[in-house]
Amino acid sequence: MKHYSAFAVAREALRYHTGWERAWRSPEPKKRYDAIIVGAGGHGLATAYYLGKNYGIQNVAVIEKGWLGGGNTGRNTTIIRSNYLQDPSAAIYEKARSLYEDLSQDLNYNIMFSPRGVIMLAQTQHEIRGYQRTAHANALQGVKTEWIGPERVKELVPIINLDGPRYPVLGGLWQERGGTARHDAVAWGYARACSAMGMDIIQQCEVTGVRQENGRVIGVDTTKGAIDCDKLGVVVAGHSGQLAEMAGFRLPLEAVALQALVSEPIKPCMDVVVMANTVHGYMSQSDKGEMVIGGGTDGFNNYTQRGSFHHIEETVRALVETFPMISRLKMLRQWGGIVDMTGDRSPILSKTPLQGCFINGGWGTGGFKAIPGSGWGMAQLMATGHSPLTEAFSLDRFKEGRFIDESVAAGVAH
Ligand SMILES: Cc1cc2nc3c(=O)[nH]c(=O)nc-3n(C[C@H](O)[C@H](O)[C@H](O)COP(=O)(O)OP(=O)(O)OC[C@H]3O[C@@H](n4cnc5c(N)ncnc54)[C@H](O)[C@@H]3O)c2cc1C
Repeated sequence: MKHYSAFAVAREALRYHTGWERAWRSPEPKKRYDAIIVGAGGHGLATAYYLGKNYGIQNVAVIEKGWLGGGNTGRNTTIIRSNYLQDPSAAIYEKARSLYEDLSQDLNYNIMFSPRGVIMLAQTQHEIRGYQRTAHANALQGVKTEWIGPERVKELVPIINLDGPRYPVLGGLWQERGGTARHDAVAWGYARACSAMGMDIIQQCEVTGVRQENGRVIGVDTTKGAIDCDKLGVVVAGHSGQLAEMAGFRLPLEAVALQALVSEPIKPCMDVVVMANTVHGYMSQSDKGEMVIGGGTDGFNNYTQRGSFHHIEETVRALVETFPMISRLKMLRQWGGIVDMTGDRSPILSKTPLQGCFINGGWGTGGFKAIPGSGWGMAQLMATGHSPLTEAFSLDRFKEGRFIDESVAAGVAH
């Protein structure tokens, strides 16, 4: 892999950009791999990357039915934060956030990490109590967040209306080193680094079956034929239930479409990310100037990766109370992605009843921020059979009643 650098840009400029090589190879599948990861979203690619980088396991294939990063990874609103309430969540999300800090350097690929700060607005007394509690929990966990009053909110977000018609802004939970990153670039950066290690990323190849012998996984059936493996990582977000069914077990998950939309581009007007959970909407401004607006999930299970009109109306109506200026914006486009929701709104990173088969899913509406930490932990789990980062997120918790309740941190937020 050729190193990207200022020197390389200058060299290619001089020779009319004829020397760039493809960022990743597109190989045909081999007969057998040490490990197969199903799903080339951020989590699958990060898992493969850390398997290679941290454990030297490089005979790996990442199998993707569409194009890499084309699932939720390329459809989300890119909010990165780690202000969760429960200790296991804070640990994995803060690991991820801290890896994001120098991921561009690590991958030699600009993922455009922008730690511009994230505010979660408190607009009811209940939210004040909830966020102050989270700020205290974060202090104990070593996650840097603070409770701020309405005046500070206004200073950070001049376009905000503190005295909304229904819900005034009473303060907020502020994480200064939270922010955003370019979602596609995260997938592309990991893909390029995996390919450089000799791993095969096989796109347009759907896994259609999980092959097993004596309770152990031995490979997968795909639209490009059967492929053998010693270990299998299922990392397919909204399709986790389908893959689990192929492997012969069930998951406590439901799949729903989550929607988002962007406005026409305007001049810079808001340089932090704001989440307003009571009125339900959140917003940041992209580098192109569009206001990136997150909406809600559909109220029924489905697999349609599309937007719908009533979500635009509901989300924009809610946000206009807190940001009256957006009433004058045209909305440009909307979309949806299939997210996988658990009952406690925490992910599943776990061994499964099928030996050698591991699952990474259930990130619901908020897994983009977790990609590096999830990949790090999942790789450790697959390579060694144990990871302190993933231990609390095992499937057993649903049988044993050890729920990691993050419905306040993640129920509607992202
Ligand atoms: C509108 C929206 C907004 C969001 N906003 C945020 C946010 O602001 N911050 C945040 O942290 N998170 C957010 N999320 C959630 C986040 O996008 C996801 O949690 C995360 O991207 C999941 O990544 P993944 O790699 O697990 O899944 P994906 O990126 O969906 O990758 C899974 C891949 O598996 C592939 N696949 C499925 N079945 C098969 C098969 N049988 N064979 C082969 N391949 C298969 C799919 O094609 C897909 O590419 C949002 C999600 C949406 C939809």
